[in-house]
Amino acid sequence: MENAVLDTLFLDRDGVINKKITGRYVCNWDEFDFMPDAEKAIGVLSQLFKRVLVVTNQQGIAKGIMTEEDLHQLHNQMISQIESVSGKIVKIYYCPHLASEHCTCRKPKTGMIQQAMQDFDIRLSSSYLVGDSDTDIQAGDAMGLHTVKVDNEFTLHQWTEELLDIINYD
Ligand SMILES: [Mg+2]
Ligand SMILES: [Zn+2]
Repeated sequence: MENAVLDTLFLDRDGVINKKITGRYVCNWDEFDFMPDAEKAIGVLSQLFKRVLVVTNQQGIAKGIMTEEDLHQLHNQMISQIESVSGKIVKIYYCPHLASEHCTCRKPKTGMIQQAMQDFDIRLSSSYLVGDSDTDIQAGDAMGLHTVKVDNEFTLHQWTEELLDIINYD
């Protein structure tokens, strides 16, 4: 986006883009249910930000509950659904490791954000991270991103509306 006001938007996936399922991992498209108006919100955010990236912990892979191929298929469907309302997710970073492996990518660690900084020219001071877990916020804070915590009441869609108000006000 050439005229984007803001730089990079990092989105967590489960609980931000799609609904969580209690006690289970979202492993395929049948189980994938967007949060209210999340696709529309990403469509708007794709205009406001230079790029939208996803950073997601997916230890279901290490647990053998899903394969990386399952995850890629799910993400391809998610991306095409978002593209149908003019949203653009440039890249999805995921951590496939178990929490017990102590890797450098699983949030609250910052490995995925640091990888993104190698892949793109990111201005952290005008970049945001939106997540629903404390570990998301910790990772974003550690990198000096603006952080936004969402939940079932204050959703990505609602934050997007607020952001639009602020930008239009300026
Ligand atoms: Mg989450
Ligand atoms: Zn990892």
